[in-house]
Amino acid sequence: MIRFAAGAVSDVGRRRTVNEDCALVSERVVAVADGMGGHAGGEIASEVAVDALRRAMADPDVHTLADAVVRANTAVWDRAGEAQLRGMGTTMCALAVVVPDDEAVADPSLDPDAGGDAGRVRLAMTNVGDSRIYRLVEGELERLTEDHSLVEGLVREGRITTEEAAMHPHRNVVTRVLGIGEFVDIDAWELDPVVGHRYLLCSDGLFNELDEGRIAATLRRLADPQEAAHELVSLANQGGGRDNITVVVADVVDDDGEIAGTFGDRVVRTRATVADLAGFTAIVDESAVVVPGDDDLDDATSERSMLPPRAERRRERGAPRFTWRTGVFVLLVLGVFAVAAGAVAWYGQNGYFVDVDPDTGEVAVFQGRPGGLLWFDPSLVESTGVQLEELTPVLRERIEAVPEFASLDEAEAFLANVAEQQAASRPSTTTTTSTTSSTSTSTVPPASP
Ligand code: MN
Repeated sequence: MIRFAAGAVSDVGRRRTVNEDCALVSERVVAVADGMGGHAGGEIASEVAVDALRRAMADPDVHTLADAVVRANTAVWDRAGEAQLRGMGTTMCALAVVVPDDEAVADPSLDPDAGGDAGRVRLAMTNVGDSRIYRLVEGELERLTEDHSLVEGLVREGRITTEEAAMHPHRNVVTRVLGIGEFVDIDAWELDPVVGHRYLLCSDGLFNELDEGRIAATLRRLADPQEAAHELVSLANQGGGRDNITVVVADVVDDDGEIAGTFGDRVVRTRATVADLAGFTAIVDESAVVVPGDDDLDDATSERSMLPPRAERRRERGAPRFTWRTGVFVLLVLGVFAVAAGAVAWYGQNGYFVDVDPDTGEVAVFQGRPGGLLWFDPSLVESTGVQLEELTPVLRERIEAVPEFASLDEAEAFLANVAEQQAASRPSTTTTTSTTSSTSTSTVPPASP
């Protein structure tokens, strides 16, 4: 059975607060809608259109994709009757696997075993507005749709170039959208489905940020459609992310019915409006916005075969952001530690003190802190050659107090003072000795011969 193997991401981008884009992904139909209109209009318009398209494609009375899009137009137009939603509208490009002729698009005979025939299966394509469909064939990207926009009209008339159009201040002005009138002109084509062809559906938030060369390179590089969609969206965000970005990558595959029915329709968009999509299997894609409390969507996610498991997706997209944030944080922490360590090292190494050298018993000057600080052991600077016991009790006490000094000069001045006092005390010591145990003459040096 010919079907799509598709991946999709719809992202709010980096400047907008609301995602007005919406995407539909299933085995048979893929679509991108870019809504517009004040207040909540834009998000509602794209959602209503995608919802209506999905319902229409499941309705046996709807025979073509274009008919389904007409229903989408009517649905948006009806809602636009509400006062606060007046003037809302949405672009929509869509691609569907269909069986033409008298069979309804919803006919289950798509399955070859049930009478369908791969040769009769067609790809129907429609477009209204400035979202685009591209096709990648043998590595070459070709654009299939024509934008219904002011600038594209000017390009067609030869009044501006494609390059000027890309920079044009009114490049967002569309000339045709769903929902602003009872009737709508729809561009519609039919293509042969070729297994291996890759289709890209996207809103202008992608191609306004990323040139077609890089889009093509990304589509060639990443075989997995979901991975390719993620990468395109993150590249568009890196390019500025000035608008909502929605990407559907759909590969045409023939699975011989093996995987048929393994996944249903899903609507892809950021969380903002999922609650409004009652009855939908909604997949929230949080690629650029951190959405708290979305646990209730875990079950829906796990049932889908197209998306990698949630944890994997988190890692994929969370990693780049956390890398630089964590990096900065780590650098800051390291910086704080380095400064603290530097201060400790400075403090630990820059003082001086006088103490007894445990190795020699001599009074000496040390650099560092008494007893050491962390891994900084004091180092011997100079020894006086004087044993502690040689000093008077008063001086001994002063040394035993282990006095500290800010500089070597101060420590030396202290020792000089100690030496001076020691020298001054010698005669008195001798006198004391002589008065208690000897005669005064014994202290008189012998006369020279
Ligand atoms: Mn847009």
